[in-house]
Amino acid sequence: MIEVGINGYGTIGKRVADAVDNQPDMCIVGVSKRTPDHEADTAIDRGFELYAPDSETEVTFTAHDLPVAGTVETLIADSDIVIDATPAGVGAENAPRYERTETPVVFQGGEDATIAPTSFCARSNYEETVGQTATRVVSCNTTGLARLLSPLDDQFGVESVDCTLIRRGGDPTQSDRGPINDIVPDPVTVPSHHAPDLRTVLPSVDVMTKGVTVPATLMHLHSLTVCLDGEPTADTVTTCLDNESRIELVASAHGRDSCADLRESAHDRGRQRGDVWENCVWAESITVDGQQLSLLQAVHQQADVVPENVDAIRALASATDAQTSRQLTNDALGVGL
Ligand code: NAD
Repeated sequence: MIEVGINGYGTIGKRVADAVDNQPDMCIVGVSKRTPDHEADTAIDRGFELYAPDSETEVTFTAHDLPVAGTVETLIADSDIVIDATPAGVGAENAPRYERTETPVVFQGGEDATIAPTSFCARSNYEETVGQTATRVVSCNTTGLARLLSPLDDQFGVESVDCTLIRRGGDPTQSDRGPINDIVPDPVTVPSHHAPDLRTVLPSVDVMTKGVTVPATLMHLHSLTVCLDGEPTADTVTTCLDNESRIELVASAHGRDSCADLRESAHDRGRQRGDVWENCVWAESITVDGQQLSLLQAVHQQADVVPENVDAIRALASATDAQTSRQLTNDALGVGL
């Protein structure tokens, strides 16, 4: 069993904790967070040991009747591998702690790519992380792009990509984010940071990205034009994407015409937190004109990186190969169902 500590039990950390807890070859040592809020209650309810970032926070938790097993230093020392899902930038502050105890660590996409020897997307470059001491799961948007472009590059060859990312303004609980009545170039400079981020896992792909932020919290939506080496039919591309376990082809006939429909459908199917782990590609949008492929896809920002974190643990532990890990993760979570 790989014993995993979760440092940062928030939006991403709590989802990864549940996913790890469901794996046949992993268990949770404990979780840490800074605030004694409802998520801390949930961690206790789920049976996870709660750790505090420092002794001061430990006192605050105890004052809120939240039993604390120790500080993060203990959590790190007692874990085979740590998932660092603290807010962007805090992972960099934590890095020396993992180095001191030589504990392998998975950082998140909010950290700079230089934080770890590799960046990670299981479909694109799992093997590069095998046996490393640290990796960084790329951001939700980059994960969505890498998962889509890797099979296209493998089967047809990708010459170049032009993608506009229509970004959610914030997660549902982030009431301090926006806009609430605007459409904002974000960033106004081109390319957005997603293009260089994608190159950390798919260095051979020539990609241009532009970001626009809108008043929505549910998902991101990507509008892509991909120049392929050959001239496949739309049906061949559809079959290629349909063969991917973490890509779901959605059809208007099923009434899933919007991001809200996709999330509602996930709730209706009984998925925890209504999570959508897969890229959702609208089948009817797949259009090929010569070498130019166009399509629309949506990614659930809070969920698509979750299976990737699980696979990153197995890669760091040199536990198995990419195909086996992805299958184990998918089966345990119900990805593709
Ligand atoms: P979050 O704010 O929801 O959760 C962070 C958690 O870390 C909170 O529980 C907080 O209490 C805890 N925390 C803060 N400081 C801490 C410290 N010093 N030690 C231990 N715990 C601490 O953040 P999030 O949205 O889960 O983001 C985490 C990382 O994942 C970031 O790098 C982010 O960029 C990345 N990410 C976020 C999303 C998303 O949509 N939210 C998607 C993909 C990647």
